[in-house]
Amino acid sequence: MLKVEHVTKYYGDFRAVHDLSFEIKEGEIFGLLGVNGAGKTTTFRMILGLLDKTEGNITLNDKPIDYTVTDSIGFLTEERSLIPTKTVLEQAVYYCSLKGMKAEDIESKLDKYLEEFKISEYKNKKIKELSKGNQQKIQFIISILPEPKLLILDEPFSGLDPINVEMFKKEILRLKNNKTIIIFSSHMMEHIEYFCDSLVILVHGETVLKGKLTDIKRNFRKKNIKVEADIDINKIKSIKGVESITKNKNEYTIKIEDDSVVDKVFKEISKCKNVSKFVVEEPTLNEIFVSKVGESYEG
Ligand code: ATP
Repeated sequence: MLKVEHVTKYYGDFRAVHDLSFEIKEGEIFGLLGVNGAGKTTTFRMILGLLDKTEGNITLNDKPIDYTVTDSIGFLTEERSLIPTKTVLEQAVYYCSLKGMKAEDIESKLDKYLEEFKISEYKNKKIKELSKGNQQKIQFIISILPEPKLLILDEPFSGLDPINVEMFKKEILRLKNNKTIIIFSSHMMEHIEYFCDSLVILVHGETVLKGKLTDIKRNFRKKNIKVEADIDINKIKSIKGVESITKNKNEYTIKIEDDSVVDKVFKEISKCKNVSKFVVEEPTLNEIFVSKVGESYEG
């Protein structure tokens, strides 16, 4: 288990992270979210032992983070940490030997992954000769070769086409099933919704929302009603508890304050012609993020 307990980080007088706590069990994917400058990279660097904490504790399986622990942590960043002049094989050997793997194991595992990701022909190519997406694939493969206990993925799908995103997704789920602890950071909320069991949202280093995704959605009382019908927008807008109506193609999205408004909207829609859809949906994580982060910026 990864435990982050009451962690605070100051850069000089500037507080980048304040009293951050969370736990992640084996086989869980945890979302660390925040706008630019919220304190995510600072948190990753403290977990990786690259940056000293000002206060608090971080442990992986009850051990404080030191070099024996960092060997079992993998990290995929947005900034490429590959050496451009090395070949893919040389890069893998360099990184994985530092993590304590034997050379022959490195090459045979690398071969397996290159084949899986359909890029075997790049094994002896220099990193600088690869496209951005293929560099991202290599970086991902190399970060998982040593089978880390904890894997930190920061915008892992950056620069990947949809086919490759699917390949990455499959591999991330396989790692989860193999009990890897995964921290997933992304500005793409649909990816967070897809993967994460629990999450934290940081704003200026403060935790503004934390918990299980299912609880967060349940506790966020606002809902969306999706409607296809010939509706009188003004009539719907005048219902108490209706916050907004937007139209996209033939579908209206009616945002409501809470469940109690559903009946009132339903009554009005049932009087309309050509009703082909009436669905009450939970808010998306994107809406929750925008709402929570917006409140904190204003507050
Ligand atoms: P992004 O999404 O843009 O990568 P982030 O959430 O990763 O942002 P951090 O890089 O952790 O944010 O930065 C958090 C805050 O700490 C920012 O205000 C940043 O300017 C500040 N900061 C980061 N590194 C340093 C440093 N070495 N010295 C001083 N301030 C720093």
